[in-house]
Amino acid sequence: MFYNSTRNSDVKVNSAQAITQGISADGGLFVPEEIPVLTPDEIKAVGEMKYADKAAFVFSKFLTDFTEAEIRYCTDNAYSTKNFETECIAEIAHLFDGTYMLELWHGPTCAFKDMALQILPYFLTTSAKKINLDKKIVILVATSGDTGKAALEGFKDVEGTSILVFYPEDGVSPMQKRQMKTQEGNNVGVCALKGNFDDCQNGVKAIFTDSEVKKALDDNGMMFSSANSINWGRLVPQIVYYISAYAELVKDGEIALGEKVNIVVPTGNFGNILAAYYAKHMGIPVNKLICASNINNVLTDFINTGVYDRNRQFYATVSPSMDILISSNLERLLYIMTDKNDKLINEWFGKLAAEGKYEVSDDVKAKLLDEFSAGYCDDEHTKAAIHEIYEKYSYTCDTHTAVAVKVYEDYKKSTGDTTKTIIASTASPYKFSAAVLESLEGKNSDISEYDKVDRIAELSKLPVPAALADLKNKPERFGDVIAKDDQKSYVLGTLGI
Ligand SMILES: *Cc1c(COP(=O)(O)O)cnc(C)c1O
Repeated sequence: MFYNSTRNSDVKVNSAQAITQGISADGGLFVPEEIPVLTPDEIKAVGEMKYADKAAFVFSKFLTDFTEAEIRYCTDNAYSTKNFETECIAEIAHLFDGTYMLELWHGPTCAFKDMALQILPYFLTTSAKKINLDKKIVILVATSGDTGKAALEGFKDVEGTSILVFYPEDGVSPMQKRQMKTQEGNNVGVCALKGNFDDCQNGVKAIFTDSEVKKALDDNGMMFSSANSINWGRLVPQIVYYISAYAELVKDGEIALGEKVNIVVPTGNFGNILAAYYAKHMGIPVNKLICASNINNVLTDFINTGVYDRNRQFYATVSPSMDILISSNLERLLYIMTDKNDKLINEWFGKLAAEGKYEVSDDVKAKLLDEFSAGYCDDEHTKAAIHEIYEKYSYTCDTHTAVAVKVYEDYKKSTGDTTKTIIASTASPYKFSAAVLESLEGKNSDISEYDKVDRIAELSKLPVPAALADLKNKPERFGDVIAKDDQKSYVLGTLGI
């Protein structure tokens, strides 16, 4: 299996190269040349496997330059009860008849990002070895809150790597901020940026492709890589849990093999829902992929009209991990939907960079509407949804997941579609305690973050994850705040070059 760049389809690299590089030198994202297809029997068999085996099976289709032993080394280290609270790793909860919550937050940082970031360091160090790279790998991360912490946990003290995370100063929850500021490890750095997530991400992307910086790193025996979902090594682990969820539901007799399901994903950077798209095209029978956004609804408009327009107000919401106006992974989807037309991709993403806006062709518009449905939900309705889900089903969900549930309910009302549905539940409610508690109780309480956690525990009967409870006693290590124009000099300064 080889990988092309979305900006140049003549680029052809293997997975070890794609994973170590993170992003193509032309600024494009790496995309597998074709999507491997599973037979119904293979899908059924996945339901009988342990999670690490499921992952190894899926990876063997994409990382064809890895040996079986190399893949097993990665999967066995990442997907064990050493890192995850539950044996099955990706738990399925029944919300109500025919509606299933795929709980992806039982890892060390309590968000779905762990599903990929627990394994990415193994992929990356294995890939580096395979291509005889003897450089130190510097991971630069832009985070809307959850990726940063998950990447820090994944990469802390991993030999041959260091990691530096940028987050928007006022764009993450108090718990997320505390998780990052207290990060342990000898190869980690964390810095707040006066700006929003898009500023963080644009800055990181610009540094990655800055030839002057690249040379400075090169001269010092270092190279950059990415732990954001622009890295294929971040995306491929996310395909596994959709295939797993379908196969588990078949095994449990909830659905028949071959029966279609809907998949609802609370979406920001379009990584998680793109993984669901890959799972569909690998053979998981899907009726609609439902893209749920918060009030930063650039994707809702895009899917419904074919016009991507980021020239709009940016809102800080109670679902901060989705406060994004430039969804990077859309580029991969459009590359596939235009049959690898790198000229069109360059044209559209050039317009996005220059004018903040582009419009796709009519055939792509039709494909978008055929595969996806899209909706959005503001903060008020998000909180109301948390309250209602708790009252009706005794289930406590986080703000991002609540957006997905609400958008799904709107979808059901407007379409009458009764297809069974998997909803991606992307974070533990404890990560967003203030908004969750306010929603559960219907009022704002003036108590500390940790008292809020305790109160949610009383109401929800959900055990508080040990990693979050421990934060209370940890010292803060990282307090730097910089202006957005200072990102490049901060990176060079931190690296000592
Ligand atoms: C990152 C994140 C999302 C958005 O996922 P994308 O892959 O960026 O679309 C949704 N919910 C939570 C809790 C997240 O951390």
